[in-house]
Amino acid sequence: MPRPARGREPFDPGTALDGLPGIGPARSRALAEAGLATVLDLLLELPVRHEDRARFARVADLVAGGPPLTLFGTITAARLVRTRRRGFSIYEATLEDESGSVDLAFFSQPWLARWLTPGARAFVHGRAVWKRRLVLESPHVEAEPEDPDDAALSVGRVVPIYRSLPGLPPRLRRRLVARALTEAAPKLPDRLRPEDAAALDLPPLAEALREAHFPGIAGGPPDPRPFRERTSRHLRRLAFEELLELQTALARRRREREARPAPRIEADSSVRKALAAMLPFPLTASQKQAIREIGADLRSGHPMARLLQGDVGSGKTIVAVLTAVLAARRGFQTALLAPTTLLAEQHAETAHRLLSGSGVTPALLTGRVTGRPRAALLSALSEGEIGLLVGTHALLERPVAFRSLGLVVVDEQHRFGVAQRAALPARTSARREHPHVLVLSATPIPRSLALALHGDLDVSTLTEKPPGRTPVATAVVDEGRREEAYRSLAADVGAGGRAYVVVPLVEESETIEGRSVAAWTEEVARRLAGRRVGALHGKMRAEARETAMRRFAAGEIDVLVATTVVEVGIDVPEASFLLVENAERFGLAQLHQLRGRVGRGARASTCVLVAGSGASPEALSRLAVLAGTDDGFAVAEEDLRRRGPGEALGTRQSGLPGLRIADPIADRDLLERAKAFASALAARGAAAPFEERLILRPGDPR
Ligand code: ADP
Ligand code: MG
Repeated sequence: MPRPARGREPFDPGTALDGLPGIGPARSRALAEAGLATVLDLLLELPVRHEDRARFARVADLVAGGPPLTLFGTITAARLVRTRRRGFSIYEATLEDESGSVDLAFFSQPWLARWLTPGARAFVHGRAVWKRRLVLESPHVEAEPEDPDDAALSVGRVVPIYRSLPGLPPRLRRRLVARALTEAAPKLPDRLRPEDAAALDLPPLAEALREAHFPGIAGGPPDPRPFRERTSRHLRRLAFEELLELQTALARRRREREARPAPRIEADSSVRKALAAMLPFPLTASQKQAIREIGADLRSGHPMARLLQGDVGSGKTIVAVLTAVLAARRGFQTALLAPTTLLAEQHAETAHRLLSGSGVTPALLTGRVTGRPRAALLSALSEGEIGLLVGTHALLERPVAFRSLGLVVVDEQHRFGVAQRAALPARTSARREHPHVLVLSATPIPRSLALALHGDLDVSTLTEKPPGRTPVATAVVDEGRREEAYRSLAADVGAGGRAYVVVPLVEESETIEGRSVAAWTEEVARRLAGRRVGALHGKMRAEARETAMRRFAAGEIDVLVATTVVEVGIDVPEASFLLVENAERFGLAQLHQLRGRVGRGARASTCVLVAGSGASPEALSRLAVLAGTDDGFAVAEEDLRRRGPGEALGTRQSGLPGLRIADPIADRDLLERAKAFASALAARGAAAPFEERLILRPGDPR
C-alpha cells in the first residue's frame, strides 16, 4: 500500500486522517491504533447502529425491561456520587421532556460532569430498568450540537452511531464520514461494472456505503434496524463485497500453493492391494472415494491441502493412516498432529495396530517422552527410520527434524485450527518441497460453508458410517426425570452394558476440576449402589487416567464419570449408555461428539441428556435437535444456524478474516455468486481495491 498522502486536499480514499480538520498528531496516533488511519478506513467501518432522531420517543413511553428508546430533553439535575470503591464513581442526572422526567446513571464516567449539567440539552439512548424507580443505566448520551452543520448530520434524521473512540467525538466523525461519502466514496474502484451490478441486482458500492452510514440519503425510507435485521440491497452489496474479498484471498492462497513443488507420491495397484490387505474390514465407498481423491493430490507434484470431513466414527483415522503408508512407500515421513495428548496416544495405538507387518514404523512423541527415549526417538526420526510420527499440535512448534517429511495430517476434531494450519510451515525435506497437508474434521459442515471458510482447501467427505452400527436413541429429560434416567442406566449396566456419565465443569481450575468430578462420582456411586464407578478428568495424572480407561475398557469399571475428555479418542465398543448432566451447558456439536462415544459396538445404545433446572426454553429446544437426528451434518447445520459460524466453529479468535456483515449460511446465494465472481475477476486480472481488508462492523454496543 502506498503511503497515504498528507494534507487537506484532495479528500481521497487514501488521504491520511492526520492533518484533517480537527485531527492533530496525538489524535491521529490514537485513531491509527484503533485501526483508523485513512479516509478509506472511515468509510469501511460501519456504524454499530443507527438512532432515529427524526421522531423521538418520550420519557412517558419508557417501561422497565422494554426496548431501548431514543429520547431528547433537558438536564434538570446532576450530581457525582462518591463511592467507597477507589476509581469507581456514579454520575447521576435527570432528563426531562414534555412528558416527564427520568433518572440517568453513568458508571465511572466522571468526565460527563463537564457538560452534562442542568440546562444542557442531550440525546439519550438506552433501556430502562426498575431500581425502585425507572432508571436508564449507562445510556448512550450526546450533547445537542450547536453548529448548524453538525445539527444537519445529528438531528432530524436517522443518525449513525459508531464504535466509541476517545480520540474521535461522534460529531466530528459524522462530519468526516459525510465528507468521505460525497468526496471519496465515488472515487473508490468499484469491481462491479454496471452490467455486473445489474446482473446481480446490487447497487453501486458508493451508494451502498452511503446508505449504510446515513440511511435515507440514497432515497427510500430510512431503516433504523440493526444491520443483521436489514435486508436492503445496500447491505447485500456490502455483504457481497465482503464475501468477494474473502474469496479473492482464498483463491490467491490456493494459486500460491498450487505453484509450489511437493513430493510426487505415486501409488500403483500393488500398493493399493497391499493397503487393502492391511485392513481387517473392507473400506466404505466414501473411504475409497476419499483415498482416490487423496491419491490424485499426492501424484500432482504440488502440495495437497485437503479437508477430510466426516461424522464421528466415519473412519477418518484409517484413511489418514493409509495415506501415511502411501507416503512411506515412496520414502516420505508423515507427522500426525492431534489436538490433545490423549487423542495422540489413541492415534498412536491405532497406527501400531494397523501398521504391524506393513513395514512402516509409527512412534509417539508427546511432552511426556523425555530424556534418553526422546533423544533416541529424535535421532531415529532424523535417520528416517520412523515413518509416522504421532504427536500433538505442539510438535511443529518445537524443532523436530524429519529426514523427509512428505505429509502432515492435522486432526482437528471439532475445532477449526485455522491459525494452526496457517502456521504449518515449509518445514519439509531438504529439497525445498512443501509437505502435503490433510486436515481431519469431525464437524461436518455444509459444502458451501466449507468452501467459504476453506476455499483454499479441497474437501473430501465421508458420508456414511461403517456398516453394523445401530443409531443411538437420544432423549432429553428435565431434572424431574433424573431418577428415572439413572434407573434405566442401571438397568442397561445390569444387562451387560457399560455407561458414561458426563458432567460439566464449574470452572477450569485444576483443583476444582478434580474436586467437582470427585463429588459427582460420589453422587453417582450413591445412586448406583453395587456398581463399580470410576472417574476420569483432564487434570488426573496420566497413569491414573490410563488406568481408569483401561479398567473401563476391560469391564472392571461399569460406569465412568468423566468430563469432556471422553469426547475425543475413546473407543470402547461395549459402552452403550451415555448420560450427560447439565446438558444445556454444552454445545450441540460437542454433545454430538460425546454421543459418538456410544453406539460403537453391537449393543443398542442410549443417550440421555439431563437438562438442569436453570435451562432456558431456548436451550431445551437446542437439545431437542439431538433427540431428532443422529446425523452430524444436520446437527452442525443447526448449530451454525443458531450460533453463527464464528461461535459454532470457534473461528472468532482464530484469525480467520471475520465476516461481519455477510452470514455464510443466510447469504449462501451471495456466497456462491461471490465465488464465481472472484474467479471471473481473477481471469480478468482485476486487482483487489481494498487489498483484501474486509469491511468492518464492530461488535454490538452494550
Ligand atoms: P473417526 O476418526 O472418523 O471418528 P475412526 O477412524 O476412529 O473414526 O473409526 C471409528 C471406528 O470404526 C474404529 O474402530 C475403526 O476401526 C472402525 N472402522 C473404520 N473404518 C471401517 C470400515 N470400513 N469398516 C468397519 N469398521 C471401520
Ligand atoms: Mg477420530
